[in-house]
Amino acid sequence: MDNHSEEQTVRYQKNIPVRKETDVFVAGGGPAGVAAAVAAARAGRRVFLVEQFPALGGAAVNMLVPGFMTFGDGVHFLADGIGREIRDRIRAAAPERFAKYCPDSIPAEILKNICDDLLQEAGAEFVFYTSVVDAAVSDGAIEYVVCAGKSGLFAVKASVYIDCTGDGELSFFAGAESEYGDETGRVMAATLCGVWSGMEDSAVSGPDRSRLEEAFRDGVFQNEDRHLPGMWRLLAQSAPGVPDGVAGSNAGHVYDVDPRDSESLTRGIVRGRRQLQEYRTYYRRYVSGYENAELIASAPYLGIREGRRVVCDYRLTLEDFLHRSVFPDEIGRYCYNIDIHSPTNDATGYEKFITEHTGYRLNAGESYGIPYRSLAVKGLKNLLVAGKCVCTDRYMQSSLRVMPGCYITGQAAGTAAAVLCGQQETDVHRADVREIQKRLLQLGAYLPNARREDT
Ligand SMILES: Cc1cc2nc3c(=O)[nH]c(=O)nc-3n(C[C@H](O)[C@H](O)[C@H](O)COP(=O)(O)OP(=O)(O)OC[C@H]3O[C@@H](n4cnc5c(N)ncnc54)[C@H](O)[C@@H]3O)c2cc1C
Repeated sequence: MDNHSEEQTVRYQKNIPVRKETDVFVAGGGPAGVAAAVAAARAGRRVFLVEQFPALGGAAVNMLVPGFMTFGDGVHFLADGIGREIRDRIRAAAPERFAKYCPDSIPAEILKNICDDLLQEAGAEFVFYTSVVDAAVSDGAIEYVVCAGKSGLFAVKASVYIDCTGDGELSFFAGAESEYGDETGRVMAATLCGVWSGMEDSAVSGPDRSRLEEAFRDGVFQNEDRHLPGMWRLLAQSAPGVPDGVAGSNAGHVYDVDPRDSESLTRGIVRGRRQLQEYRTYYRRYVSGYENAELIASAPYLGIREGRRVVCDYRLTLEDFLHRSVFPDEIGRYCYNIDIHSPTNDATGYEKFITEHTGYRLNAGESYGIPYRSLAVKGLKNLLVAGKCVCTDRYMQSSLRVMPGCYITGQAAGTAAAVLCGQQETDVHRADVREIQKRLLQLGAYLPNARREDT
């Protein structure tokens, strides 16, 4: 879909204002973008972040992903620094019911406020309702990015740019290479998440698929999807037996969606919304405690697990997971298991998912390193990438893509950008990694393998 070479073209030329000159430009305000912006601003750099949605928080707020995956490996707190700060602020700000019953569920409204506060306190500027739509590159460096806001197109110039779009959009606009999908060019299935009420709280304790086969036979679903019809508790009930539980669904799959293509996304979300109504029927008819379940809202954006993987100086692979790799330029460590949802809705795909999901897991206290080189975009001197689309194979993308992992790479990219802005030359491929590690340690990052003598 990145190749539109067959299409008829028109020439479009226009002078646009340069609305901002800054040290660090951040595209996208998800976990990676928030952490990048805060880290760079705390280091004293001028930061400008643009986000297409009217909120910071990324997939947790615009795809309604209901819960955080693990922040630690069971022994160490891996997403330390800004990740820990966000988690702690949520726990402190959330009503007692959250803290008590649903520690890693995401109160999206609270998360939005926390992200606003973090950026404002750090002095990072941000603007919503604004998309990055292009980049002008000269001599291997981004000269400016083109943004589309409510009053039209404008340019932003920065010393260092960070792609935190989750989809590698800025990298694509800048002409960076990327990888996409499996050997057949397919990516993991998408999911349209939703917020539900009316369940008995005790029933929301875990995914229930015990009567899925019966529902398939009864023709409730158009797609016989055997993955988990999962619900995460968002608010616990006020009293036993009262059906006032509020939950977020991460249920079912929408297949064959290409996240690089608006038309494909449109078809996908239309299908996803129909599918959520099928789940409503399933829950109410077949699942005990869900008889009064009601879908309150579906997410405004289809939940995309996998898109472009931007090519950088180092590609993290499954081997690194299996060897618990250590790197000299490590900027963090992470541990979540391999979690590749099948791109196809068939028994083979489903079995592969289950085998890998259960087979590729690290033990408590174990983790793999993430090198700085996986963030330095190949072929561009002033572009870093963080979050879901850093340089990995599909296995590692499926582990590192979860939110705590994105806090780790975002924090590192923001810190690296800040260090680069203080150097004579802002070439991301010649960054002073020791200095980046030193600053990361000051932010609280978990870096057990970095030399500490001069920190
Ligand atoms: C269905 C589903 C379930 C998941 N479950 C979990 C889970 O249980 N736990 C967990 O921790 N993780 C989970 N994840 C993964 C996780 O939510 C994402 O991988 C993670 O949020 C990625 O972070 P990011 O910052 O890279 O990108 P995102 O969170 O996607 O944020 C990117 C931001 O950039 C903005 N943006 C994109 N393009 C542009 C542009 N051109 N201009 C301006 N702004 C732009 C977007 O609006 C968005 O806000 C799930 C994901 C999905 C889809």
